[in-house]
Amino acid sequence: MATEAWSANVLTLFPEMFPGPLGHSLAGKALESGLWRLEAVDIRDFATDRHRSVDDTPSGGGPGMVMRADVMAAAIDAVHPGGQPLIYLSPRGRPLTQARVRELATGSGVTLVCGRFEGLDQRVIEARAMEEISLGDFVLSGGEPAAMALIDAVVRLLPGVMGKDASGAEESFEGGLLEYPHYTRPQIFEGREIPPVLTSGDHQKVKAWRRAEAEKATRERRPELWDDFLGKKP
Ligand code: SAH
Repeated sequence: MATEAWSANVLTLFPEMFPGPLGHSLAGKALESGLWRLEAVDIRDFATDRHRSVDDTPSGGGPGMVMRADVMAAAIDAVHPGGQPLIYLSPRGRPLTQARVRELATGSGVTLVCGRFEGLDQRVIEARAMEEISLGDFVLSGGEPAAMALIDAVVRLLPGVMGKDASGAEESFEGGLLEYPHYTRPQIFEGREIPPVLTSGDHQKVKAWRRAEAEKATRERRPELWDDFLGKKP
């Protein structure tokens, strides 16, 4: 069976922001060679009034503007192919995890909705059963950088995108741990040496050292990840 390339449909008020950073380096080369596809769609094309308005004042008052449910629904219905996740990037969503990124990479693609202003009218989020995903506990001015981050994380996992297939497997989060620290030449930098074990040539010792460092970093920096890890350990 011929498989279509993984595809990202992005709904945005700023389609000219794309591919942006995704047009460079690993993701950019993969985009050029057809390993994935990107379509940025202008939400404003689905406005129906003379002024092409996509937002209105918040019901109940308060500052800012809210993106209209009817315009958003028209845009989604026109471009979302179904059969793949429909995701609204939102600080109210579940934080993105490497596990979710991996799942998204095994699917056919995603449709991503980028908010602006105060975000989307709640009714369209519910009516189209959107999955809400957050990049973290901070507020961006728009969903576009979050969409780019999500796409970047997925694309590097697609078959053929990363140079060495193995380099995805050992990374931070993959085994429930942060990754070990990295070193390269010069041997001495401002009086600091590369840990001698790494230049010893003893692969077993290197492996053990890296494992210990990964555990130490996770324990010290991310106690909640460490607790999860201990709970999951066979
Ligand atoms: N008033 C909202 C913030 C709106 S920010 C609130 O306090 O919850 C405008 C848009 O930026 C949002 O609609 C969303 O698409 C995007 N955005 C902001 N922070 C984000 C985050 N942490 N993760 C993903 N998207 C975010």
